[in-house]
Amino acid sequence: MRFLFLAEFDKNLRFRCLLCGRCCTGYNGGLKLELYKSDIDFIASKNYKDFYEDKNGIKLMKIKYGMPCPFYENGLCKLKLLYGFFPWNCSVYPLQVVEHSGFFVVRINPAALEECPGLGRGPRLRDTLLRKIISGVVSIKMTSDPRTLPQDIALSLAEVRWSKS
Ligand code: SF4
Ligand code: SF4
Repeated sequence: MRFLFLAEFDKNLRFRCLLCGRCCTGYNGGLKLELYKSDIDFIASKNYKDFYEDKNGIKLMKIKYGMPCPFYENGLCKLKLLYGFFPWNCSVYPLQVVEHSGFFVVRINPAALEECPGLGRGPRLRDTLLRKIISGVVSIKMTSDPRTLPQDIALSLAEVRWSKS
């Protein structure tokens, strides 16, 4: 089985997180953060309770509309600060995958295009987070969790094409 990914952003686009925390606030809009089993298991292992809800089988961080993520504190992510851990979707931001019939589009989260000051700096996304998000999505499709399949195995099941040269 092979999974086709269409990268819909500039091949040379760079990104470095400046830790400004804007994305953790949802940029003053509704922040939605899907969690996977490995995210939930890790956070629960640190004795946090009642931090997610199930919406039709999708696990979402419990975040009140217009409010920041509950782990965002004093301008920092508490999970990263205390345990060096990001939920998987936070770890691949500002990339986003949209599933279509027979292929996946990898793009920049539209909110990040407007608001993330880290875009345009640092290393090229294609050398960093692109591999991570593709391997994670293949792993999700095969095992329901982004961290289960080793990256080299997951990437061997993926084909990447670019919509722009
Ligand atoms: S908005 Fe961009 S630069 Fe700021 S914390 Fe989020 S990913 Fe990092
Ligand atoms: S888990 Fe951490 S990085 Fe992710 S949205 Fe919450 S505060 Fe931000």
